[in-house]
Order: sequence, then C-alpha cells, then structure tokens
Amino acid sequence: MALSFNQKGKLVKNEDLLIKLKAEWFERFDDILANKTTALSNLKCLELCEARCCPRVGMRPMAPEKIASPVVVLLPFEMEYIMAKTGVGREVFRLWPIDLTPSLRLEIGTLDLGKPCPFLQDDRLCGIHAHNPLDCRTFPMLPSLNPAGSMEWTLGENCPSIAFLSPAFSDQMKHTWQGLEPHIPRAWWDLYAFADHWTGYPEPSHAD
Ligand code: SF4
Ligand code: SF4
Repeated sequence: MALSFNQKGKLVKNEDLLIKLKAEWFERFDDILANKTTALSNLKCLELCEARCCPRVGMRPMAPEKIASPVVVLLPFEMEYIMAKTGVGREVFRLWPIDLTPSLRLEIGTLDLGKPCPFLQDDRLCGIHAHNPLDCRTFPMLPSLNPAGSMEWTLGENCPSIAFLSPAFSDQMKHTWQGLEPHIPRAWWDLYAFADHWTGYPEPSHAD
C-alpha cells in the first residue's frame, strides 16, 4: 500500500509539474510572437521557392499535396501552443515522446517527411504563418547542442536563399534560442539532431 501511495503521489506531482512547464512555455512563445521588432530575414522564399514554407527545390513543380514537409521538430509544449492558438487537433502532428525523468514523459509534436505538412495551403503558403513553429521560422538556420552543452549553428544546405540571409535576423534568432536553451531538455536536442537524418517515417499504426 505504501508503494502505491508513493506512486500516486509522484503522478500528482508530475501533473502539477507539467501544468507549470506548459504555462512557462506558453509565456515564452507569447513573448517571442509579441516581439514586433523581428529583423527581416531577407530570404527570397517567394521568389526562389515560390512558397513561405520550405518545399525542397526539386519539389517546387509538385502539387502542394505531394510536397512532403521538411522535418520540423516542435519545442516542448509548442504543439499544445499551436493547437490553442489555431484550433487544430493533435492528430495533425506526429508525436514523438521524450522522457524528462523516468516517470515524466513529454509528447513532442513533429511534422515530418512521411506526408505533406498539414498546414501547407494550396497557394503554397503556410496556413499558420502567424504561429508557425520556431523551427520553421528559424530555417535555414539549424541549432544544435554540442557535447559540452553549448549551442552551435549550421545552415540548411538545400535552401537557395542562404546567401541572402540577413546578419541581423541571424543574430536575433540566435539570441531567441539562447534564451530558450536553459529550458530545453537534453532529450529534445537528441531528438532534434536525430530528426536531421530522417529520410522518412514508417506509416503510423493508427489511420490518419
Ligand atoms: S528553402 Fe530557404 S528560400 Fe526556400 S522557403 Fe525555405 S527558407 Fe525560404
Ligand atoms: S508549419 Fe508552415 S512553415 Fe512549417 S512546414 Fe508547415 S507549412 Fe511550412
């Protein structure tokens, strides 16, 4: 009995912690979106990719429903934030669990190469542009955490706009991520690094 009491106590604490973490992350996303001084990226998305999303260059002539999304990994609670702001359901994301502790699991939302991004509209613009994932807004910049725990940056090779990337935008994005970094669990960084090498997923077991 003592064991189940303790176990129950742990679960209650985990729920409280999840509620607290979610509120904190929602506040961070609010702050990021409230910043109206975001520097222009200078990327030529509409001109070079005919999109405000990132269909790869070879996909440009394809119909929107055929365009697989890039691999997008949402931050902790970013899926819940987008759901709250746009009204979309959890079923449009692929869920990838990460364990914060042996008894505390977070479900990270991803948009992957297994199917076109559900937010890509027929006009090839992002249907949730005002709330699209920070990963989308950061591309072609790709953050990573090195083994020493410091952030590093690379550029997505398949972006035809890299040469135009504004240093002011780049600095601002780095600053934004630097502010988030202390709150991002290592397991998320591992998932993000792993996702960079995904070439596609097996179909999910449930019917989409
Ligand atoms: S690949 Fe580059 S240019 Fe094309 S939509 Fe993405 S960020 Fe813009
Ligand atoms: S959320 Fe928007 S920007 Fe991101 S992959 Fe989907 S359509 Fe593109």
